[in-house]
Amino acid sequence: MNIYRIAVLPGDGIGPEVMKATRQVLDHVVGKSPPVRLDCIEYQAGAEVYRKTGEALPQAVLQACLDADAVLLSAIGLPDVRKPDGTEVQPEMMVGLRRALNVHSAVRPVKLFPGVSCPLKETRQGIDFVVVRENLEGLFASFGGGGLVGNEVATDTMVITRQGTSKVVEYAFRLAARRNGRAADGKRKVTCVDKANVFRSFAFFRKVFFEISEHHPEITAEAVYVDAMSLYMVQNPWDFDVLVTENQFGDILSDLGAGIVGGLGLAPSAEIGDRHALFQPSHGTAPDLAGKNLANPLAMILSAAMMLDWLGERNQDKTCIHLARQIENAVEKVLHEKKIHTPDLGGTATTSEVAEAVIGQIDKI
Ligand code: NAD
Repeated sequence: MNIYRIAVLPGDGIGPEVMKATRQVLDHVVGKSPPVRLDCIEYQAGAEVYRKTGEALPQAVLQACLDADAVLLSAIGLPDVRKPDGTEVQPEMMVGLRRALNVHSAVRPVKLFPGVSCPLKETRQGIDFVVVRENLEGLFASFGGGGLVGNEVATDTMVITRQGTSKVVEYAFRLAARRNGRAADGKRKVTCVDKANVFRSFAFFRKVFFEISEHHPEITAEAVYVDAMSLYMVQNPWDFDVLVTENQFGDILSDLGAGIVGGLGLAPSAEIGDRHALFQPSHGTAPDLAGKNLANPLAMILSAAMMLDWLGERNQDKTCIHLARQIENAVEKVLHEKKIHTPDLGGTATTSEVAEAVIGQIDKI
């Protein structure tokens, strides 16, 4: 039997509700497959913990995350919980956790499921691409630094390194090799998204990208400026397969991606390093929905499926990969049937009803 230790961080706001729904789905799918066991241990971290203790990510919780086979986190942060400098605890905790786990590539699938309405008029060819965001450097390397000159000038520095760029670009090509290509015609392609016409840092990012692309001749490599990419994601998203980009651009483009396929409630994410990985939905703690049992748990459930897929790939565990596909197929069926949709998708279903519907579909598959 393969046993995986999972550090579970339910977090703040809607976090505990979507995590509870996800744990129910995970327990169910794994319970049916004796060769795999998940030992999930819950830890408290985030804004509520900061409110009580003055620390958002206690050292013992960080150590538990480092010791685990994977980290499953919902969302943390609350707008009314702030540090003395006026900022929220969320960026400090998330940047700190990412740096400690050294998770260099954030993987954000953008997939339009049948049954979900799309704000774009034309979707015949489908939407199914992935934004791979460099997760440790770029403009976010400046987090905790930056400069303020008097009351007049503020600066933050963009950092692009050969090592950081190589890791994320390599990851993007390996991901493209595992996928079925772009929605339009199945062509495998990695698109470097940058601003290489203006900045030396991005010209270097692009240079390293094309150097690495030479090791992957079976996959088409191209580069697009980020402003044009924002247009293409709305006009012809089916022409893209895997996008790879700098941290801040990836942050923005992945939310735009979520916007064209049903919103943040359907936007999962995986943050992958050489040794560790962290799985969490792209959304925040949605304080407006907290405690109402109305949040969409599917982004969190799909993030858990990405965790099973990663554990399976890493440990050559085919059962884990199969379980990931079962969850994804069950989510797809629930969305397609349109009966059990939460309010963000135009329905009236509760968080728990969606979890039950996914479990019901797993039993049917
Ligand atoms: P948010 O993602 O929490 O909410 C944005 C909008 O999307 C809201 O209208 C919300 O109701 C909706 N939404 C989000 N998740 C949803 C879901 N699962 N189902 C249905 N609707 C959903 O972003 P925000 O309002 O900017 O931030 C709220 C808090 O979350 C802040 O404290 C912020 O710091 C934190 N945050 C945390 C993370 C993280 O933990 N990685 C990420 C982003 C924001």
